[in-house]
Amino acid sequence: MRRNPRYDPLFEPLQIGPKVTKNRFFQVPHASGMTNAAPRVRAAFRGMKAEGGWGVVCTGACSVDPSSDDSPFPNATLWDAADIKAHALMTDAVHAHGALAGVELWHGGAAAMNRTTRLPALSPSGVPWMATHVPFMSQARPRIMDASDIKDLIRWHAEAAIRAEQAGFDILYVYSGMGYLPYQFLLSDYNHRTDAYGGSVRNRTRLTENLIDAVRTATQGRTAVALRISMQELRNRPSDSHASEAHEVIHHLRDAPDLFDVKMDYSAYDCAPSRFTPEGSHETTIDFMKTVTDKPVVGVGRFTSPDTMVSMLKRGVLDLIGGARPSIADPYLPNKIDEGREEDIRECIGCNICISSWHDGVWVRCTQNPTAGEEWRRGWHPERTPKDGSGTVLIVGGGPSGLEAALTLARRGFQVTLTDKAEFGGRLRYETALPGLRAWNRVAEYRLGQLRKLNNVALYPNSELTAQNIRDFEADHTILATGSRWLPNLCGANELPAAPLTAPRIFTPTDLASGATPEGPVVVFDFDNYALGTAIAEDLHDKGHAVTYITTAGAASAWTFLTNEQPLIHQALARRGIGYRTLQIVTGFDGDTLHLAQIMTGEPSSIRVRSLVIVGQRLGGSPLQQELADLPSLHLTGDANAPGAIAHAVWQGHRTARDLANPNPVLRRDAAFATADTVAAE
Ligand code: ADP
Ligand code: SF4
Repeated sequence: MRRNPRYDPLFEPLQIGPKVTKNRFFQVPHASGMTNAAPRVRAAFRGMKAEGGWGVVCTGACSVDPSSDDSPFPNATLWDAADIKAHALMTDAVHAHGALAGVELWHGGAAAMNRTTRLPALSPSGVPWMATHVPFMSQARPRIMDASDIKDLIRWHAEAAIRAEQAGFDILYVYSGMGYLPYQFLLSDYNHRTDAYGGSVRNRTRLTENLIDAVRTATQGRTAVALRISMQELRNRPSDSHASEAHEVIHHLRDAPDLFDVKMDYSAYDCAPSRFTPEGSHETTIDFMKTVTDKPVVGVGRFTSPDTMVSMLKRGVLDLIGGARPSIADPYLPNKIDEGREEDIRECIGCNICISSWHDGVWVRCTQNPTAGEEWRRGWHPERTPKDGSGTVLIVGGGPSGLEAALTLARRGFQVTLTDKAEFGGRLRYETALPGLRAWNRVAEYRLGQLRKLNNVALYPNSELTAQNIRDFEADHTILATGSRWLPNLCGANELPAAPLTAPRIFTPTDLASGATPEGPVVVFDFDNYALGTAIAEDLHDKGHAVTYITTAGAASAWTFLTNEQPLIHQALARRGIGYRTLQIVTGFDGDTLHLAQIMTGEPSSIRVRSLVIVGQRLGGSPLQQELADLPSLHLTGDANAPGAIAHAVWQGHRTARDLANPNPVLRRDAAFATADTVAAE
């Protein structure tokens, strides 16, 4: 197929300093959890995006000096010559497909806790980062940089730039964003200095300018120099001479870098979840850039629609379409647009499971793309599977895991039959009807769209299968993807589970998904701590009930801090007037009065309520598994195997399909290259 001419502007080359990108698809630096300890995993992950058509592919933040150490969060390093080889693997993988490779030189300043190197954190004026999440907190406070520290910081950037060029990077970033050191100089809240680096906006901008100059001088103009800068706070601050401090900062820097990469300051707005934030949400913050500078500008906004992308270019908001999450969900997004296959794009659903991986300190996971991070370890390609399948497969259950298994097995060449007792979608049928979660249904829509194109797949919705039906089908392989169910069990103190509660009008998400309707007022008791509890509370409120949300944790949907949703969830509850109580367990309910206890002190309280929704434990397994235990090739997958987020279900479905009748599934272990010290010691 041919590219739609409407999208031609996305494929025009662009000069970035001394380099030229072949198109406008720019994978901006984003966390992958892949440090120098996993160089082959990282190279394969980034290289896949170059293979999929991204014109520029950047690696994540690279610390320039041991005084910027993000542990236990994963961060890459460019500390000395021993780090070069690991990065060269990535740049080779990117160059192999005609893309440019970029690197984000990073110093965290007061936001880097230096837990491993134990060096005092650096800061303009000794002001710490106001972390609200326990793992980000530290009792070590930063020290105030003196003139020699500033010289050192500039030198570290210059030296790291030389190493980055030796590693093969084409675009070297200075990073003045997201609370990190150069950003702290820009903001008057952090910067109380009275020297040439503090006071006026001009002075506060000086460090960023010095770093850009240092990187350019170090590589003598052979590489492009980019500036990544957060604009959210600066845009909200008045300036004496410009429309805002953001305008003034960019005015001072307008000719300094070869490229501006503009973003928000706070992760929940920068990497904003789809539950609350639409595509292109940064625009009102960064839309002024092209009025102040002639340099190319790249920005993100979870862009998956080529029409939105073209509009960003045509309206002069951006010159390059930045992608982090869309490139994880579909490394082949540019090629699909180029080939006129827009309907094949595996669109990011905005769930932010990817960013939760970084917060968890592990390699990136993606709900939509189960192969992300598995390119090298398991040899999984997002678009290609070996054509090695023969025989028939019956899949029972068409939720995320069943759909993914069906698609992957069909691509392998099996004759696939997919059944579901209801319409396809499984848990998504209910969950994506809850407020804000509509975009998550892309998990089902993408897979059903692809399955309908294949002629070796038979789809049977609304077909409940019994064990006898399954036997009679006589498939060579049978996969049970029948999901899990939520239980009415409670949660005790001391992290212990408690027995189920029996009383009138107790509901679980499984009951609500089946159409049960609570009577108000309702309490939602949540110790699952992910998205569902609060989404149900919002939904019941929107349906006219008085709702109170109660959780064992210290905040609503506590785990969603990791997905950037938590602050926005609290805002949504507040907007609706949904009251919430934290650190509580339910100890009893008689249909009219709900008894609670403070989880740490045991202090009792009660609340008058007609219905209780318990969002707590889930149980997998399937009675079909016992009844069919003698079948020769029977497999349980997805939530039926081990309940989890949608991402877990998709990954399990993919793995089941990859490994079915495959005697030698690939599983490799990556390792760091030897450092200069270990080589010398050996
Ligand atoms: P997962 O997240 O693992 O994909 P889901 O709960 O989303 O699990 O989906 C499981 C699907 O299995 C549901 O759509 C359900 O209707 C279907 N299902 C369960 N039992 C049967 C059965 N006996 N026959 C057909 N479909 C079934
Ligand atoms: Fe998008 Fe979710 Fe994948 Fe992240 S995990 S890239 S938000 S689909």
